[in-house]
Amino acid sequence: MTTGGIYIHVPFCRSKCHYCSFYSVVSSDKLVELYFDNLVKEMNIAAKKFPLQASTLYFGGGTPSLLSSDQINRIIDVANDCFGLKKDAEITVEANPETVSLSNAQHWQQAGVNRVSIGVQATGQRLLNILGRRHSAQQADEAVNRVLQAGIKNINVDLMYGLPAQQPEDWEQTLQFCLDWPVTHISAYPLQVEENTRMKEMIDAGLVTINDDSIIEMMLMTPKILEKKGFRHYEISNFSQEGYICQHNLVYWQLVPYLGLGPAAASYYAGIRWSNDVDLDMWSKNIMDQRANIDYDSQKNEIRMAEFCFLSLRLLQNGISKAEFKNKFGLAVDSIYHQQLQELSMAGWIVDKGDRICLTEIAIPWANQIFMMFLPENE
Ligand code: SF4
Repeated sequence: MTTGGIYIHVPFCRSKCHYCSFYSVVSSDKLVELYFDNLVKEMNIAAKKFPLQASTLYFGGGTPSLLSSDQINRIIDVANDCFGLKKDAEITVEANPETVSLSNAQHWQQAGVNRVSIGVQATGQRLLNILGRRHSAQQADEAVNRVLQAGIKNINVDLMYGLPAQQPEDWEQTLQFCLDWPVTHISAYPLQVEENTRMKEMIDAGLVTINDDSIIEMMLMTPKILEKKGFRHYEISNFSQEGYICQHNLVYWQLVPYLGLGPAAASYYAGIRWSNDVDLDMWSKNIMDQRANIDYDSQKNEIRMAEFCFLSLRLLQNGISKAEFKNKFGLAVDSIYHQQLQELSMAGWIVDKGDRICLTEIAIPWANQIFMMFLPENE
């Protein structure tokens, strides 16, 4: 049977952070109940249509930690019944600091959760206010300690840089603050200013500004600071201690199948990508009709080859394996992307390491533009 990942989208938040464009609504008991019943239904339908044994289960959102411990417990049980969770499956819950109590964390641990990803984002109160976060640095500290106390040792913290009015010194302070915690994984993403967000409005109104030059400085200083503390920069925005690479994210980067359940969740199975209806009501009505919203048919060879290349390049030490490419597509990677590879090599943005072609550290700020070079022109 196919092995892969299960992603559960929990579409509830207490309020909307200023930068966030993910689908979420303010939770109420009635909505959570409706969501929960339909999620169980969807899991059962999906398991029949798209058989898969789960090596990872990821509760993302939204704010999964707003679900009750019983609900999380029950979803894990249903996932196990439907997708036969592997014995060593990585089971992650995303949590916002202000929602982590010791009793929550203990219940998650008892239910089988073995990884918690905490949305810290920043540690200075001024920046937390600009982001519209509901927690303080002290609450983040308490959350990490409660999760540890509950016996869950595998902890990620999510951080953001390139924030309005953030200087490289502020970013260094944030990193140092988090390095005092015995966390196993750090994700550090630059702020993306999305349409229809409060952040975009604030920037457009001139209330806050972002300095593009300092974003690159912060991006390049991050690995230097984290590597000194034993973190390996294994993916463009991700750093882990030895043995703690996020297995669920590897599913995405290594083109392993995954099923996304819940509103707005995306799936990839048998070479097809699709996403669920974004709206909670629409999703509830259309549960029977999965795959209705096919994003694009990645079975087209030119798209599969491009995806393989740019997702592989994200994994900095792995890169593109020439042998794997040949094995998958029957052609040499250099024969398909000769011009791109030559240009990138001359710019010093990739390096040839025998079987592997890897992105260099100096190329990381331009990774998205580099990835576009692999896509067919009409995509
Ligand atoms: S808690 Fe997360 S999902 Fe919810 S609004 Fe904030 S950033 Fe978005």
